Amino acid sequence: MLLTFHGAARQVTGSMFLLETVTGYKILIDCGADFNDKQNRKPLLHFPFEPSELDLVVLTHAHIDHSGNIPQLIRAGYEGQVLCSSPTADLCALLLKDNQLLRAAKNDKEFAMAMVNRALDRFVAVKASHDFKVNEGVTIHFIPTGHLLGACNVLITLKEEEETKTILFSGDVGRKNYPLLMDPAKSPVSPDYLVCESTYGARLHQEKTAPEDILEKVINETCIVHRGRLIIPAFSIGRTQTLIYTLRRMQLQGRIPNIKIFTDSPMSMNGSYVYEKHLAWLDDDARQMHKSGGTLFDFDNMVYIKTYKETKAISHYYEPCIIISSSGMIAGGRVNEHVRNNLNNPFCTILMIGYSAEGTVGNELMQGKPYITMKKRDIKVEAKIMYTDMFSGHTDQQGLMEFVGQFDRKKLKKIFLVHGEPESMEAFKDKLSEEGYENIVMPEKGEIFEI
Ligand SMILES: [Zn+2]
Repeated sequence: MLLTFHGAARQVTGSMFLLETVTGYKILIDCGADFNDKQNRKPLLHFPFEPSELDLVVLTHAHIDHSGNIPQLIRAGYEGQVLCSSPTADLCALLLKDNQLLRAAKNDKEFAMAMVNRALDRFVAVKASHDFKVNEGVTIHFIPTGHLLGACNVLITLKEEEETKTILFSGDVGRKNYPLLMDPAKSPVSPDYLVCESTYGARLHQEKTAPEDILEKVINETCIVHRGRLIIPAFSIGRTQTLIYTLRRMQLQGRIPNIKIFTDSPMSMNGSYVYEKHLAWLDDDARQMHKSGGTLFDFDNMVYIKTYKETKAISHYYEPCIIISSSGMIAGGRVNEHVRNNLNNPFCTILMIGYSAEGTVGNELMQGKPYITMKKRDIKVEAKIMYTDMFSGHTDQQGLMEFVGQFDRKKLKKIFLVHGEPESMEAFKDKLSEEGYENIVMPEKGEIFEI
């Protein structure tokens, strides 16, 4: 059997792995957009294999770096199904549309939407935590992993003649006690081969306190002491729901002042509907709250902004307030408007809650640049810039070690590290070796392994 690493090889994005059995059955695991590759921002791309020859696509979760090239794959001739969890199918309906509209040329938007709809028709939602027998030789098992609603590790069992092999693809591994989502579940068996993400393979999350405590402190300082505004750039699916839910909990506990909270991300409302539709994927606290109080994402003082006119209007709202807006890296989207209008406002705090790629305003703010250029204007940064990793959906080195630690190491024939910058992978590899793990490899893009 052959395993080829077509993406997320020594880098974070572009997850795409091809499994080929001795009988020639081909399974693609994830088909993500590669943010490092400028070609990938265009709608059409060439795959390093023949899409029409694939038998099956399996998707770990809806994030674009795992799912973003599925419409292209179908355009390029793939005719089979895309297996995923039920929430992943629903979130892909939102995320793929948004992403393809962004990537399509101006006169190509209608066609791009048609391609997304064609792709979505191929999605088949499979029950998680159960064996799903694709055929006599192939069984798929989705293992919920927190991280994002519907996100899973995928365990693939392949029967070849008399031999059975198991390969586990981690997707992105979530963290324990993450607000709203269930803790990562354990795999029903130890695999022979593990393909493991290593995004935070080099670091430990710093904050050990509850997210409510962090938010309470920042809100208190910004909105009560300084009577200013708090801007939180956040991706509209995932982070935004986690934030709103945390604020909702704080409101129920009487820990939040009576101020307006604006959610200004057009997609976030639909994202919240998807979260509420799949309550079984949420943690006990969230389900309990839903049972007793109805909605998780709406409450007094919470205002969902719809039109761009309303976005402009918030700029003239001078009472203390919280603005949650996308994109998370301040790389376009409505948050740019809010940041631009408030960078020179000393009564404003901008709370960064996630990774910002190089070249984005978010990245420049995190570096502490004194001036930021937005819309060709140099603006002095007088707002307070803060950062927390409390809302990151990825587990850290310790969590990754625990993830690998659940498996029988004598059975593990090889660990492939993917989805990480080389430094993160090296650190994670060292840690694994220190603990006695062997046969750890960091595949190059396009590298093929016989397993
Ligand atoms: Zn992810």
